[in-house]
Amino acid sequence: MGRIGVKGEGKREKMSMNTDVIIIGGGIMGLMTALLCAEKNLTVTVLDKGELGRESSGAAGGILSALHPWRAKPIINQLVEDSKLPYQSLIERLEAETEIKIGYRKSGLLILDPEAEKQEAIDWAIQHKYPFELLTPQNLENQFSPHFRSFQEGLWFPDVFLLNPPRLLKALTLTLQKKPHVTLSPHEAVCDFIVKDNRCLGVKTIKRKVMGGQVIVTAGAWSHLLLSTLGITLAIQPIRGQILSFSPLPETFQPIVLFKNHYLLSQMEGRILAGSTVEDVGFSKEVTEEAHTTLKTFALNLWPPLKEVNVLHHWAGLRPGTPDGVPFIDRVAPFDNIWINSGHFRNGIAQAPASCQWLLDKMHHEI
Ligand SMILES: Cc1cc2nc3c(=O)[nH]c(=O)nc-3n(C[C@H](O)[C@H](O)[C@H](O)COP(=O)(O)OP(=O)(O)OC[C@H]3O[C@@H](n4cnc5c(N)ncnc54)[C@H](O)[C@@H]3O)c2cc1C
Repeated sequence: MGRIGVKGEGKREKMSMNTDVIIIGGGIMGLMTALLCAEKNLTVTVLDKGELGRESSGAAGGILSALHPWRAKPIINQLVEDSKLPYQSLIERLEAETEIKIGYRKSGLLILDPEAEKQEAIDWAIQHKYPFELLTPQNLENQFSPHFRSFQEGLWFPDVFLLNPPRLLKALTLTLQKKPHVTLSPHEAVCDFIVKDNRCLGVKTIKRKVMGGQVIVTAGAWSHLLLSTLGITLAIQPIRGQILSFSPLPETFQPIVLFKNHYLLSQMEGRILAGSTVEDVGFSKEVTEEAHTTLKTFALNLWPPLKEVNVLHHWAGLRPGTPDGVPFIDRVAPFDNIWINSGHFRNGIAQAPASCQWLLDKMHHEI
């Protein structure tokens, strides 16, 4: 095990620090990885260019499934499935330790326009023993709401879970702050890697050098920018997503409801979210009037009681997009000790526990 601490290095040199594991990026991937490292008694330093958990992870809807699981690459569904059990125990633990309610619940996923891909979806569900039900308008009304009666058919996946991402990130941060071997360092962007041959000795941040045994890149949509400083090309690009939230309603609904590639979900305390857009606009996190109109029109058509309340918030986040949605979870060749866990695109919250565990399993000879 290494040591942690900050030491002065003379007047002209900035302070440097030593740690077993340097984690670049404090979103869900970085913070969950830090927790797993801390459980192994490793010293960990998490560096983030901004506040922890405030980029893609904090902007997410919290759906713990691919929206159309039959369309997703098998590895994505595998990581989602393998995350289910760890999530249950993690959430229980975090809620007990921090007293933050994370809004984790079995909501189910109701797809109201299954027609075109119905057979494909059903074949997939049967093949993977994934519980499903095909619902008639009568079922939709009786099981869910009269508002859904006008739809011809519904495809119901009951085993889908939901949580509140900002609260999960807050609880993770609070828990990590209490760990003696963990240093969280927000507002400290990493600018460069310090390398010698095939080894990374540490990183340069805007403030100092941080030296470490292993370096993990969990910088989300920015991961490829960081690695490009080492001449490494990575197919990750920012894909903007916008969401609207509405004031709580007395009349609410249980499932995540998906229709024409948009979804509506009811979070804790009845707050309803309408999401999301998928936009290739570089690193712009602006919210747009167009998305506001599209999402609001969609939401009010699907759940008319929303006409009675206001839009509370409108936000955007930058997903770490990859061409097929499959993340990079591996050693970064040709380096012996640089690792990446990034590129989870639309499903990073859903895949986080298994992705982080998977990376640590790959690192087991080194830590
Ligand atoms: C609108 C929207 C809705 C979504 N809904 C869902 C959903 O319902 N379910 C789901 O599973 N997923 C969802 N996602 C996707 C999910 O949010 C992401 O896949 C996931 O959060 C990625 O986590 P991450 O830790 O890799 O990235 P991030 O959360 O973006 O974290 C990366 C961190 O790295 C930091 N960083 C970057 N560069 C540097 C640097 N040079 N030095 C130091 N730090 C740096 C950033 O500041 C950031 O905090 C959604 C995303 C969006 C935008």
